[in-house]
Amino acid sequence: MYDVIVMGAGLAGLMAAAAAAELNKKVLVVAKGRGNLYSASGYIDFLGYYPTDCRQPLENVVEALEDMVNDNPQHPYALLGKEKVDQAFDFFLKIMNRAGYSYSGSWKKNRIYPTAAGALAPTSLVPQRSCLDLASYQEILVVGFREMLDFYPFYAADNLREQFYQQGEKKLIRAAWLDLGLSKERELNSYDLAVALEDEAVRFRLAEQLRVKVSENTLVILPAVLGIRKWARVQGDLERMLACTFLEIPTLPPSVTGMRLAESLMEYLEQRGVEFQLGYPVTGALQEGKKCTGIKIETASGRVQVKRAQSYVLATGGILGGGLKVKPGGITEEIFQIKIEMLQEMSNQDFFAPQGQPLSRTGIRVNGLLQPVGAQGEPLLTNVFAAGKNLTGYDPFVEKSGNGVALVSGCAAGWLAGKGAL
Ligand SMILES: Cc1cc2nc3c(=O)[nH]c(=O)nc-3n(C[C@H](O)[C@H](O)[C@H](O)COP(=O)(O)OP(=O)(O)OC[C@H]3O[C@@H](n4cnc5c(N)ncnc54)[C@H](O)[C@@H]3O)c2cc1C
Repeated sequence: MYDVIVMGAGLAGLMAAAAAAELNKKVLVVAKGRGNLYSASGYIDFLGYYPTDCRQPLENVVEALEDMVNDNPQHPYALLGKEKVDQAFDFFLKIMNRAGYSYSGSWKKNRIYPTAAGALAPTSLVPQRSCLDLASYQEILVVGFREMLDFYPFYAADNLREQFYQQGEKKLIRAAWLDLGLSKERELNSYDLAVALEDEAVRFRLAEQLRVKVSENTLVILPAVLGIRKWARVQGDLERMLACTFLEIPTLPPSVTGMRLAESLMEYLEQRGVEFQLGYPVTGALQEGKKCTGIKIETASGRVQVKRAQSYVLATGGILGGGLKVKPGGITEEIFQIKIEMLQEMSNQDFFAPQGQPLSRTGIRVNGLLQPVGAQGEPLLTNVFAAGKNLTGYDPFVEKSGNGVALVSGCAAGWLAGKGAL
C-alpha cells in the first residue's frame, strides 16, 4: 500500500511525486511512457503571451496573470492562485538545485531566448548554464553541424540579426557549419551528437574548428548537443579550451535539454525513495463511491495488477500524451472514464493561431482542490487530484504556458495527495 500513486511521468507527474515525497510519503509513479519532456525544450514557460492575440512577448507577467484570472476562472492558475504559483516555482528551483541541474529565473519576468529557427521567444526558467544576458553580447556566432540536418545556422543567424535590428540592436551575427567527422551513413539527431560529444576526441575536433572563428567576446549559439549526462564536463571543457561563452538552443525532438531535466529529476526522485513502474499503462480503476481504491496496471505478460494507495494523482497528459482519447462519441479520460466537455465547437483551426485550436483547451474540469468535477461542479472523486495537460481551461500553445501549468498543478496535486486532504 502506497500513500500516493502518481499516474504519468511527464513534468506534472514528476513534480507531483517530488511534492509528495517532500512530505515523506511513500510514492509510486506508474507510466506507460516517458512524457513530453523528451520532446519539449526543457525551459519552463509560465505565460508568454496574453491576451493571446497579442504576439509581443509579455513584459508585465504579474499584471497579465491578474487579468487572466479575472477573464478565465477555470484556468489552472486561477483555480490555484498566485501563492501556489510562487510555492511551486520556489520548490522547483530548490529541488533542481539539489538534483544537480539548477535552473534560474522567475515566473514574474519573462526572458527572451532564441529558438532553433532564430526567433526570439519568451520563457521563465532556463537551466543555470544557459542563463545569460543576450543584450550584453555584440558578437554572436551561430554554429550548426554537417551531420545534423535539422538545425540551419545561416537561417537562424539571419532571423536573429533581423529581430535584434528591429529592436534597435545592431550586433555582428555570423554563422558557420562545422564537421565533427562522424558517420554520414545516416542523418544524426541532437541526441546522437550529444552522446558523441561526451567523447573527448570529438570535443577536441569541435574546439579545433571553432578556435579560428571565435574570440573571448564571442557568444557561440549552437543546438543543444553538449552532452547528456556529462553535460557539465563537456561544456566546462569547451569553455576552458576556447575561453568564449556557449548558449545551447533547444532543438526539434529528441530534445537534449528536456532529457537532462527529466533524467536529473527522476534520478533525484529515486534517491528520495520514489518507486517507478515505467512502460506499463494504467487501464482502469477500482472505485467505492467517490473514492478510488486501486488502479489496474497491465503488465508485460498481459496480467492485470492492482496497486493501492490513499490518494492518487492523475497526470496522464492530454490528447497528445495519451491521457485523453478522441472517439466517435466524444472525448474521454481513459482511466476513470471521465467524459470531457468540449468548450467550443470542433474546428480545423491551426494550433498556433491566436484564437487557438479548441482541442488544445479541452480537458478535465476540476475544482480548486484539483478534484475532477461533474457538470454541477460536484466532485466525482475525492482522493484523485488531476494535474498537467489533462486539465481544461488553458491553451499551452497560444499562451506559452505548457510546462508552467504542468509544474504548478503537478506540485499542488502532489501536496494535496500527500496531505491526504479530505
Ligand atoms: C513538441 C512539443 C513541444 C513543447 N514545447 C514546450 C516548451 O518548449 N515549453 C513549454 O512550457 N511547454 C512545451 N510544450 C507543452 C508541454 O510540454 C506540455 O504541456 C507538458 O509537458 C505537459 O506535461 P504533462 O506531464 O501534463 O503531460 P505529458 O508530458 O504528456 O505526460 C503524460 C504522461 O502520462 C503517461 N500516460 C498517459 N496515459 C497513461 C496511462 N493510461 N497509464 C499510464 N501512464 C499514462 C504518459 O506515458 C506520460 O508519462 C510542448 C509540447 C509539445 C507537444
